[in-house]
Formats: sequence, C-alpha cells, structure tokens
Amino acid sequence: MASYRDLLRQAKEHISEIEPADAEARLHEATFLDVREQDEHDQGTIPGSVFIPRGHLEAQAETRLDRTKPVIIYCAAGNRSAFAAETLSALGFTDVVSMAGGFGRWKNEGRPWITPQTLTAEQRDRYGRHLLLPEVGEEGQQKLLESRVLLLGAGGLGSPAALYLAAAGVGTLGIVDMDVVDASNLQRQILHNMDRIGERKVDSAKKTLTSLNPDVDVVTYDVRFGADNVLDIIDGYDVIVDGTDNFPTRYLVNDASLLKRIPVVHGSIFRFEGQATVFHPYVGPCYRCMIPEPPPAELAPSCAEAGVLGVLPGIVGSIQAMEAIKLILGIGDTLAGRLLAYDALEESFRTFKVMRDPECPACGPNAGEIVIAEYDEYCMPHPKVAPASA
Ligand SMILES: [Zn+2]
Repeated sequence: MASYRDLLRQAKEHISEIEPADAEARLHEATFLDVREQDEHDQGTIPGSVFIPRGHLEAQAETRLDRTKPVIIYCAAGNRSAFAAETLSALGFTDVVSMAGGFGRWKNEGRPWITPQTLTAEQRDRYGRHLLLPEVGEEGQQKLLESRVLLLGAGGLGSPAALYLAAAGVGTLGIVDMDVVDASNLQRQILHNMDRIGERKVDSAKKTLTSLNPDVDVVTYDVRFGADNVLDIIDGYDVIVDGTDNFPTRYLVNDASLLKRIPVVHGSIFRFEGQATVFHPYVGPCYRCMIPEPPPAELAPSCAEAGVLGVLPGIVGSIQAMEAIKLILGIGDTLAGRLLAYDALEESFRTFKVMRDPECPACGPNAGEIVIAEYDEYCMPHPKVAPASA
C-alpha cells in the first residue's frame, strides 16, 4: 500500500513546479488557483486568485477555470497543489503548474497578498443557494454586495425588480420615484401595501426592502427625473433598471447612460404583452437604434390610460432583475442586441435581433456630441432659443 509520501512523490514526478518569483512574473497572464480551505483563504490570498478548495476541484474546475489560460496552483506549502495539478491534468488542462513552497513561501518572500473580503456567517447562510452555484459563489456574492443598481420607478416593473435585487444582496439600490402610493397601485406594485397608502413611494419601497434584507442600502430620489438631474443621479451606478412608462424619459435615460457608459435594462408592458432588452452602451444597440423616433402619440397610450394584467409587470420586472444580476456577475448572455417579447395570453416568449444602427444619432460612429435635454411628447430636444413668433 502506498503511503502519503509515496503518493506525493509520484504526483511531483508527473507535474511541473514553479518558483514563487517566476510565478509572480506571470501574475497578470496566468490564472492563480488557491486550493486551500476556507479559513486559510480568509486569512490571506494572492490578489486575483480563483478560490476552489481542493475537495471541490473536480466539480468546479470546468465552470470556473479558463482552459485557454495557464493555471498556477498554490496551497499552503506546495503539497496539496501538486495533487491538484495532477487532477487538472487528468481533466484535460494542458498548462498547469504547482507553486513550490505555496502561499507560505510567497508571503515570506514579501510578494503581494491581500486579506479577502469575506462573507459573515449570517451572509453565508442567507446567500447559501447562491454560493452553491459555481457561477456565483462567494466571489460573485461579494460582487453583488458591492454593486449599485438604480431603479427608475417604484411601480409595476420596479417593484418585482427591487424585491429580487434586494433579496439577491445587491448592496446599493437607488430608487427614483416622485409619486405617492395609491390604492389602485396595489393590483401590481407589490413593494407597497394598504398601510402605505398616501405615503411617498420611495419611502414605502425603502421600508419593504430593508425589512427584506438589512444588507441593502436603499438610496431614495423623491424627485422628477429630468435633464437637470439625470447625470448626477445615475453617476456611480453599475446598472440602470428602467421601469419608466413614457418615451421622453426613455430617450433621456438613453442619452445620459451613453454618456456615463452605464448599461440599461429596459422593460415595458402593455395589456397582456411585455418586452425586455438590455442597452449596453457601445457594445449593443441603444434605445435610439431600436426606436429612432417615438410612435405618434395616439398609438402610444401611456400606462395611465392602458389596462394591464397585474402579474405581467411581475414577470417582466423579474426578467429585468435577472439581466441586472447577470451584468453585475458577468455571466451568461444578456439581452443586449435581442428584444424579448412575452405574450401572456399565448404564454409565449419570442426574441428578435436588434442591431446597432450605424446611423444612430446617439451611439453611431458619426454621432455628434450627446446633449442632455428635456424632451417633449415628440421626444425632440426643446430648442435652446425660442423660435421666432410668426
Ligand atoms: Zn444607438
């Protein structure tokens, strides 16, 4: 029967080792893989490392490691990493080395290391179902907690989006809304309830969200969203979830988000039909690429005039929350360049390609300077100088 020493010797015969000095020279080109246990990792790790404890390596390597990049594996002293290198080679990774002396020697030699941000025991419990997903994990959850999402509207779309984003642990949720809660809102705006009728919507939203998840900092903007404040409000947010229901605001949000390069998750609803897409500035089309001009007013009734089945915004707003989370985590394919159309009566989803418009006046290569201006019902900027009266 082979002893531990025999196994280690055999492993080291099959794999390559790298000295910490040579590993540091490859810090930016290679994936550093930390295969120690959670408590060891929490006390200090190499910046930018992927953390997969040795026991989870086989299960998580496929989804969390990039096969096209070289992998430098380390543990505390260079033994577990030797076994881990053997495992990765068996899984078909071709450029894998184990760091001799491990993190202990790396640290003693004065090479860069950090104490990683870690979740508390309560957070590990709360977000346990996220942590089980290799695509999210502790690193992804940390990203969510550090992320900032701005919701335009605490109404039909904003309600489910805000609830799911708060539940997911998005650390900062900004909410722009200047309405008060009305009994007629409660058919679909599930952030609010009977006790809140007459209350500012942003205050009602904040109460609901902070009682759902104390990790979330809710920032409220009880103002009219306009050309004078849009750039200040959206500044510093990672994603905008647009739940507004009128064309002028959508054009305003579009132009401001292009200037600040913040992706917008768009959603809209009408009767039994909903749409969602992502406008990722200069990556995919923008709102003006998709809808260069607003439809005539008589064909575009506002939400106030049109009926809507209450569940519909729940579905579309949830899709918006999902897209926002994917953008933050950088996982999957977002709806950038695709319009998702949902028909509740048919119970069908269809996607349509939306291309960037090379002639787009906002994001096209020949677009002029973006001017943030108020739009009238035709969504044309108001003239800076009043037209001469006839
Ligand atoms: Zn465009």
